[in-house]
Amino acid sequence: MPAVDAIHFFALVSFVFGCMIGSFLNVVVWRLPRGESLSHPPSHCPRCGWRIRPWENIPILSWLALRGRCSSCHLPISWRYPAGEAAMGMLYLLLFLRIVHSGWSLEVIPAYFWLSGALLATALIDAQHRYIPNQITYSGCGVALLLAVLFPQARLALFLPGNPHGGGILFTAARDWLTALPDGAALLSSLRGQAILDCLLGLTAGLILLGVPAFAGRLLASTSTPGRTEIMGWGDVKMLAMIGCFLGADACAYTLLAASCAGFLAGFGRWLLYCRRDLVRQSLPFGPFLAAAALLWLLTGNWLFRLYQLAGWLE
Ligand SMILES: [Zn+2]
Repeated sequence: MPAVDAIHFFALVSFVFGCMIGSFLNVVVWRLPRGESLSHPPSHCPRCGWRIRPWENIPILSWLALRGRCSSCHLPISWRYPAGEAAMGMLYLLLFLRIVHSGWSLEVIPAYFWLSGALLATALIDAQHRYIPNQITYSGCGVALLLAVLFPQARLALFLPGNPHGGGILFTAARDWLTALPDGAALLSSLRGQAILDCLLGLTAGLILLGVPAFAGRLLASTSTPGRTEIMGWGDVKMLAMIGCFLGADACAYTLLAASCAGFLAGFGRWLLYCRRDLVRQSLPFGPFLAAAALLWLLTGNWLFRLYQLAGWLE
């Protein structure tokens, strides 16, 4: 483990870097659902069109210095901008500390940072616009595969026995099965081959776990009640597939389970709170729950698996 001073320094760097990514994600969350380009035009006040100067674009600090107002038209700038920047900064800080304190290779940082940014952006866009952009999920799958090729050792180290990621039950089973096939052993002899298998297995798990219910839901919706909207969108399927690409099949199953429980509780809570039957039919966006569950996995590992272990010790 590096010296404590170095850890503090790089923790601060992670926070600042997270705030900058958060600033970029603010642009993504605003422009992507509106079909606008991410690079052009440069940042401007949406009300008066004032072109934002570089010193007015420093995460959190500029908003505080301007007291939350545009320097040209003096109309308020939403608190969501600095909040998004601070949230991303804190997330990167926590992820960095988790990786360092777990003794993992720093090579997992690009995957963890990319995925958490993609999760926050999809959650915010889905909550507001009820859709998950393909640009985020497709690019996420591509980046995950690229990182598996570049840093196979860091990815596979998360599956070592005793690791909170739960040992990768599905991955281990698939690897053993493939190794027994005629050409399987040669294919999986390298770490890179195993990392790519883990990535593709996660992709498949995501597509099957949510794709099957989405397809069944669509069939049911079209035969029973005409005009009723589908239960599960394809955006959610692609989002879980992206999570699987980054974290593997076990994490994929865990994320779906945790997100479904949280989504059910939230829906039930809303029904209790408002006592309105029409709300029961109006579904909640699922993306934010998937994002929260995957972030929980990134930060805490497989706590369901650990609860199971704990139950084993108590016997
Ligand atoms: Zn303005």
